[in-house]
Amino acid sequence: MAKLTVEEAYELKVGPNFQLADVDPSSTPGLSGKSSVDEAFNDLDDALDEEQEKLYANGRAGNENAGSVLLVLQGMDTAGKGGIIRHVIGKTMDLQGVHVKAFGRPTEEEAAHDFLWRFGPHLPEPGQISVFDRSHYEDVLVQRVKQLAPPEEIERRYGAIVEFENELAARGTRIIKVMPHISREYQAENLKERIENPEKHWKYNPGDIDDRKLWSQYMAAYQIAMTRTSTDVAPWYCVPSDNKKYCRTVVKTLMLEALQSLQLEWPKADFDPEMELARLAQS
Ligand code: AMP
Ligand code: MG
Repeated sequence: MAKLTVEEAYELKVGPNFQLADVDPSSTPGLSGKSSVDEAFNDLDDALDEEQEKLYANGRAGNENAGSVLLVLQGMDTAGKGGIIRHVIGKTMDLQGVHVKAFGRPTEEEAAHDFLWRFGPHLPEPGQISVFDRSHYEDVLVQRVKQLAPPEEIERRYGAIVEFENELAARGTRIIKVMPHISREYQAENLKERIENPEKHWKYNPGDIDDRKLWSQYMAAYQIAMTRTSTDVAPWYCVPSDNKKYCRTVVKTLMLEALQSLQLEWPKADFDPEMELARLAQS
C-alpha cells in the first residue's frame, strides 16, 4: 500500500534557499506514479475524520485550549484550491467545525482599512478549522504584480504578515500555508476546459487570461512572498499540482499532522455514566 509520510510532505516546506523555479509542477515527490498517488489519496481519511471530530468536540465542550487550525490556499487560477476544499475538507470533515472563506478583491470598506483587517473575523475559534481560498497573501502577490499599492507599503506587509501569523500561532492556531503549484501548460489545459465545457463556465473569468499573461511576474512575487514569510510556526509548502490528487494527498497529510500535534483527548463527561445508565434502564 503506497503512503505519503509526514517526512516526505515536510520535504516540500519552503526554507531560506527555496527556489520556486526548481520545483517541477508535474512531479509527485514521495510517491512514484499515478497508481501510488491514487492509493495514498484515501489512506488518511478515517484518521482525519476522527482527529477533526475530536477537535470539534473539544470546542463544543468549551475547551478554550483546544487549539485550532488555519489552512491557507494560495495559488494561480485553476491550481486546485477549490478542489482541495471539496475533496479534502468536504469529504473528510464534519463541516460544523469548519469555516471556509474565499477572498476576492477588497470591497471599498475593506480597502479603507489596513490590509489585514478583513481577515480577523474569519480566523478559527478554539475547536475550529478555517480554510482560506486566497488570503492576505494577495496583498503581496496581485497587489505587487499589478502595482495596486505603493512599493513601500508592499514592503511593509511582509513583516506585518509574519507578526500577524506569529500572534495567531501564539494563541494556539496551527497554520499551514499551501501553494498548489501548476505549470503554465497545465493551466492552459484547465482554462480551455473551463471555456469549452458549459458545466465549467461558472469557474471561468476572462480576467484569468490577463493574470496568465503576467505568469512570470506572479512567480517572482510568489518566490519573494514565500521565502520572506515561511516561518517555523507558519511554514509554506510549495506542492506540485499538475497531478491534483497528489496535492490533495499532501494537504491531507499536513492537516492530519497539525491536528495530531494538538494532542487532544475526547472531552470528559460532565455526568456519571453509571448513574445515567441506571436512569436509562428505569426510564
Ligand atoms: P477567484 O478566486 O478566481 O474567484 O478570483 C478572485 C480574484 O480576487 C482574483 O483575481 C484575486 O487576485 C483577486 N483578489 C483577491 N484578493 C485581492 C486583493 N487583496 N487585492 C486585489 N485583488 C484581490
Ligand atoms: Mg479565478
